[in-house]
Amino acid sequence: MQVTEIYKTLDYSPAPESPEQAIEWLKENKSSFGLFINGKWLKPKSAAVFKTFNPASGKKLATITEAGKAEVNSAVNAAKQAFPKWNALTGHERARYLYAIARQIQKHSRLFAVLESMDNGKTIRETRDIDVPLVIRHFYHHAGWAQTLESEFPEHTAIGPVGQIIPWNFPLMLLSWKIAPALAAGNTVVLKPAEFTPLTALLFAEICSLTGLPPGVLNVLTGPGNTGSMLVKHPDLKKIAFTGSTEVGRIIREQTADSDKKLTLELGGKSPFIVFEDADLDSAIEGLVDAIWFNQGQVCCAGSRLLVQESVAEKVTDRLKARMAKLRVGDPLDKSMDMGAIIAPIQKKRIQKLVEKGEKEGAEIWQWQGTLPQNGYFFPPTLLTNVAPASTVAQTEIFGPVLSSMTFRTPDEAVMLANNSAYGLAASVWSENINQSLHLAPKLKVGVVWINCTNQFDASAGFGGYRESGYGREGGHEGMFEYLKLKKGAVDSAQRLKVKQATKTDKSGQYQIDRTAKLYIGGKQTRPDSGYSLPVVNADGSLAGEIGHGNRKDIRNAVEAANKASGWHSLTPHSRAQILYFIAENLETRSEEFESRIMRLTGLNKKQAAQEVQTSVSRIFTYAALADKHEGLVHQPPMRGLALALNEPIGVMGIICPDEAPLLGLLSLLLPALAMGNSVVLIPSRPFALVATDFYQVLETSDVPPGVVNIVSGNALELGTILAKHDDVAGLWVVGTMDECKNAKKFSTGNMKIIWTCEGKELDWFDSQQSEGREWMRRASQVKNVWIPYGE
Ligand code: NDP
Repeated sequence: MQVTEIYKTLDYSPAPESPEQAIEWLKENKSSFGLFINGKWLKPKSAAVFKTFNPASGKKLATITEAGKAEVNSAVNAAKQAFPKWNALTGHERARYLYAIARQIQKHSRLFAVLESMDNGKTIRETRDIDVPLVIRHFYHHAGWAQTLESEFPEHTAIGPVGQIIPWNFPLMLLSWKIAPALAAGNTVVLKPAEFTPLTALLFAEICSLTGLPPGVLNVLTGPGNTGSMLVKHPDLKKIAFTGSTEVGRIIREQTADSDKKLTLELGGKSPFIVFEDADLDSAIEGLVDAIWFNQGQVCCAGSRLLVQESVAEKVTDRLKARMAKLRVGDPLDKSMDMGAIIAPIQKKRIQKLVEKGEKEGAEIWQWQGTLPQNGYFFPPTLLTNVAPASTVAQTEIFGPVLSSMTFRTPDEAVMLANNSAYGLAASVWSENINQSLHLAPKLKVGVVWINCTNQFDASAGFGGYRESGYGREGGHEGMFEYLKLKKGAVDSAQRLKVKQATKTDKSGQYQIDRTAKLYIGGKQTRPDSGYSLPVVNADGSLAGEIGHGNRKDIRNAVEAANKASGWHSLTPHSRAQILYFIAENLETRSEEFESRIMRLTGLNKKQAAQEVQTSVSRIFTYAALADKHEGLVHQPPMRGLALALNEPIGVMGIICPDEAPLLGLLSLLLPALAMGNSVVLIPSRPFALVATDFYQVLETSDVPPGVVNIVSGNALELGTILAKHDDVAGLWVVGTMDECKNAKKFSTGNMKIIWTCEGKELDWFDSQQSEGREWMRRASQVKNVWIPYGE
């Protein structure tokens, strides 16, 4: 063929990557793999096995061992035994191992890239240029966190042995997102890769042995969901980090509800890709290709919902079809392919079914017209237009190369449509008007916003979702906290001011006038819906008064009021701080009244009660101070641009207060939530609720806008369960009995709310290290990363 002819057609010639090294590696291992436990390979004779296939050919690649109960126990035990020594290493010593792992992956990068492509079906272009470089960067970056751990996280320490479960869509990349921070922080790991894609995890284990990583620090267990489930339930694992479907995430959350395991969930998504009429449309079309056809659309943050401004919708659709027609789908090891194979026949069938459902529900379908390879599991790039916002293909995660397109007219409508999803992982905004994009970013209920770009990842920028996309972050400063705990967690009971509850009622102390404290909802004192009240008894047994017995309807009204108070979040942090200072002033003015209330209810002496009130005033000052200081970070990822890590409020938070230190305990929980801009539904301690009802009089005189704080008194277990089940409550903190904590975790899986509980333990509210400061501001917030490229 003449060069001139090539110019005419611009056809691609085949550009195959050699699979030779990967095949050689498989041969060396006789295409049969065991489990990596305590630094050794184990192939129990009795263990079941399964096969892994190449999705691009359907051919078997290897036989893999299925870890059963005995192997899970051995691996967890190995991790448990290895933990004290590994954690006792200096940060520098751990950094050297992470650095060595990064170097080894770099040395074997092509083998990793080819093997990943063969096992998963994704193109070599992606594994070679995106996955493997990100993996290497992750280990280098976290070698840095290991090195600086003592100085950067002085109050924190490792959690212990952790269980990590990953899916098949980014087998190696998600392995690095999990293992690097865990090891850097001093934890040991038992990792379970997905059944479809175990090979690169096994190669990784082999590579780790080359670095001399101590036995037991990393254990790799292959197996099905059941192996994962055994890890989740194992009592010796102190944390579970899971990436996968929302459905399995819910099961895991329920299964860990009655343990004190830390949990992070990286779940599904249905991310919007918003194109405004003033966008650079050609760039936006290229962005779309990366958003939805990257990894065959099998990406949790895939831009699978195109929201395009009506005025340019036709133009965008036409240009998109023209671009789609040029996509190349085929052999993943051909370096010029855009799309490879779908992971397995079951996933292909699922995609097909959802597309058919979309058509039945009225969508118009347009598909790539090229020829798909005969063997393997391929699906053509697909565009669905005329999609109704409530239809299945607009709401369900398809996890395939299918784009659902809708239109909007105004920016407000774009935000409404974008947020019309149970998920909240990511969003892309395309507009040449940067002001408009930055105005939109905080309104989008997602963990990552890409402005004029998409699918950008970096080890320095946390990744994770809102709502049913899960919680917790992977990567960056915020990601490290997911593998750390406070050094000082236990209560020094000798120092704590013990409260006393009356054991019997002295009827002679009957009060004369009705002193039934009402509920406080939407800035008003309201009678409880039930029409019932509950008696409150002083420490000497005399009746102190009565409190409203709140029920489901009161919680509903309180959550509604809290939702309406979203303006609190829009106030500047400075204004919120001013209001908090005002609360401190007003509390101090009434300090004698609060002291005597605390003395009567708890039996503490005057000095102790005064100490509680004074510490409370000081605590308010702390959060007024932090309100405008808990700022985000500006990351400089390896791109021409910035990623802004913004600390955002969670939204409406439910808070169940402790019995200990009734005023100080309540304020220690309420204040960080308020300082971060959340609105709150507060359930005060049942025996000491009168302290809370006295406190709403302070709120009333302190310019706190109506609905920002709502107080519903009653039975904590009952009201906590209602709050846990309420889908408009985005976060829940419980300081109470183990039953109250368990209940809250178990019943809050509906909308996957962010939850923190004391695990039935007691906190020392007078100890500022465990009860005050940044840790609480972090708990009251979630990080959103906004990526902004610059340059032309
Ligand atoms: P799953 O959530 O089923 O699997 C993810 C991981 O969890 C795998 O290692 C899996 O093992 C394991 N697992 C399965 N069941 C349990 C359990 N009960 N307890 C503990 N671990 C378990 O996702 P799938 O791979 O089956 O994909 C299904 C759908 O999930 C996709 O179509 C997609 O919508 C979504 N998904 C989302 C991802 C994301 O990144 N957010 C990634 C992958 C999938 P095994 O592989 O052996 O079944």
